[in-house]
Amino acid sequence: MRDLVVAGGGPVGLAAALYAARAGLDVVVREPRGGVIDKACGEGLMPGAVALLGEVGVDPPGHPLSGIRYTDGARVAEARFRHGPGRGVRRTTLHTALRDAVESAGVPIESQPVRSVEQGADRVLVDGEPTAFLLAADGLHSPVRRLVGLDAPTRAARRFGLRAHVAMAPWSSCVEVHWSRFAEAYVTPVAEDLVGIAVLSSERGPLEDHLAGLPSLAERLAGRSLLPTRGAGPLRQRSKRRVQGRVLLVGDAAGYVDALTGEGIAGGLAQAKAAVAAVTAGDPASYEWTWRRLTWRHDLLTHALLAATRPIGLRRHIVTSAATLPRVFEAAVNQLARPA
Ligand SMILES: Cc1cc2nc3c(=O)[nH]c(=O)nc-3n(C[C@H](O)[C@H](O)[C@H](O)COP(=O)(O)OP(=O)(O)OC[C@H]3O[C@@H](n4cnc5c(N)ncnc54)[C@H](O)[C@@H]3O)c2cc1C
Repeated sequence: MRDLVVAGGGPVGLAAALYAARAGLDVVVREPRGGVIDKACGEGLMPGAVALLGEVGVDPPGHPLSGIRYTDGARVAEARFRHGPGRGVRRTTLHTALRDAVESAGVPIESQPVRSVEQGADRVLVDGEPTAFLLAADGLHSPVRRLVGLDAPTRAARRFGLRAHVAMAPWSSCVEVHWSRFAEAYVTPVAEDLVGIAVLSSERGPLEDHLAGLPSLAERLAGRSLLPTRGAGPLRQRSKRRVQGRVLLVGDAAGYVDALTGEGIAGGLAQAKAAVAAVTAGDPASYEWTWRRLTWRHDLLTHALLAATRPIGLRRHIVTSAATLPRVFEAAVNQLARPA
């Protein structure tokens, strides 16, 4: 019988496989999508994510990120990272680096989804095959979360994400966040000649329409084409608990508040490490408390920022507030960016 099956070969599942291999577990990854996997993402690795990737020997090339800059076209507020730089990394580059490391560690990646899960006292059957534990790292709309009855409804306002790239030299080493009445656009340098543009909004529509509401950004990008767009959402997802018997939820599969604080990958990597430690210790239930400890600070700040920026009247003041209270802005950015 295997020690561990990881459902999902995204960044969190692959990092979990690396932590498991380092702990001496017999682990396999199940990922239905072949080749190099792309996804709608702002592609900003916060300093905590860079540190955790380093722990499992993964150092993907990208563009250094020195902080976060808010702008509404007229005003600018900037907060620098205090715990070392982050990094803008194309999702395809991140996936290639993680997958290569998993293959070098001798962990098999099977090209099929997890379709059925049956729990027993001392094992879990994954599509009929016994394994001691199953980690669900199968993303925002996690099929495994549903299969084991951990999906929870949400009444939160629905927000969606879009992402494209523009072939041009970055004009800042910060992740630049442009605020309009209905959307935020995150500009992340990912290479010397490429920037990523991610837009988050509760309004659905093509990326070009959102950019029309962000004239200062549209002016920067004028005359350049947007390289293929990808979408994701609704972003808010909840789970009832993170552990059900021998099944543990990690990354977006464990629940997601919003992408506006850019912490998804850092948080997911920290959860992968904690979940593997719990199964290695033979104490999966302990992961629930570790998950709460790892996520509460980030979730609280994300909920607070969402609440403060939902009413259009308040939204207009977000950049002015950040510029007027630079220490508060810097403290909030660094609470989110610091390693777990
Ligand atoms: C618009 C947007 C911008 C974002 N910006 C940032 C950012 O700047 N920085 C940041 O850190 N985070 C950001 N995030 C969040 C980040 O993208 C996610 O937190 C991260 O991708 C989570 O990784 P994961 O491995 O948990 O899930 P995923 O990357 O979604 O991977 C899940 C994998 O599971 C596979 N799968 C699905 N079903 C099954 C099944 N049944 N069996 C097996 N495998 C299955 C899928 O094919 C997929 O490859 C952003 C998100 C969005 C939407």
